[in-house]
Amino acid sequence: PTHRKVALVTGANKGIGRGVAEQLAALGMTVLIGARDPGRGEEAAAELRAAGFGAYAVVLDVTDQATVRAAANRIDERFGRLDILVNNAGITGSGQVSPEDAHDQVPSSVDLDMVRAVFETNVFGVIAVTNAMLPLLRRSAAPRIVNVSSHAASLALTSDPDGPFAALLPSAAYSPSKSALTALTVQYANELRKDGVLVNAVAPGFVDTDSNNHTGFRTVAQGAAVVVRLASLGSDGPTAGFFDEEGSVPW
Ligand code: NDP
Repeated sequence: PTHRKVALVTGANKGIGRGVAEQLAALGMTVLIGARDPGRGEEAAAELRAAGFGAYAVVLDVTDQATVRAAANRIDERFGRLDILVNNAGITGSGQVSPEDAHDQVPSSVDLDMVRAVFETNVFGVIAVTNAMLPLLRRSAAPRIVNVSSHAASLALTSDPDGPFAALLPSAAYSPSKSALTALTVQYANELRKDGVLVNAVAPGFVDTDSNNHTGFRTVAQGAAVVVRLASLGSDGPTAGFFDEEGSVPW
């Protein structure tokens, strides 16, 4: 048992998840680096420990129920509870970098197996991890769940014919998967409101990571900051919301 808050971040070996882990650790939390590859997870955790933070790697492939269960068991044995879950692990399904590269997400010609794979990770994986971790979260005094979504999830933004999403970026797999994730966020928030579990979705903005071949113009630290803000809400904080760093994102 520890008096420090215990936070699990999925897909935390690199990118935004890695930045979130670092910022939560800097707030004094014990951070569990969820990573599907044991070596990559341990490397990231070791780097954070070397910087003086409390960080441990946990093997967790969100599409592999056996690793999800094993991760929950390990956290239970070691800490007996979980305070914060950040569902960050996600894939685009393509090199969705520029209009030229995004042809594989044109709805009329999209590869259905790619769509399935994207939903498996970005949506079904979140349900699997959340449900496995909820018994541990219920033992927290201030449980928080943050789902890392995207502005591309916003039907208001993507249906605007003059906006950048409709005009430039076909996204038959990624965008609908993130819309489903924000919808799911509201459903969990409604179920868990009476239990004091605050559940919100976040859009980190266009962040410089491997997922967009480093074309993003925001730093990992900037993208992570809004996630961390929602992960460390006080008990009077919002639930069932969708936020970026400027405030509410339209659904
Ligand atoms: P990265 O590709 O840099 O990192 C993605 C992370 O998710 C990696 O750690 C990766 O692990 C992990 N991951 C992928 N699939 C699985 C899986 N099945 N199980 C466990 N972990 C998995 O991407 P970002 O940091 O950019 O993205 C993080 C989140 O932010 C995603 O949900 C993304 O959709 C979202 N987002 C990103 C934006 C951006 O501009 N970068 C904009 C809006 C949203 P591995 O190293 O093993 O591949």
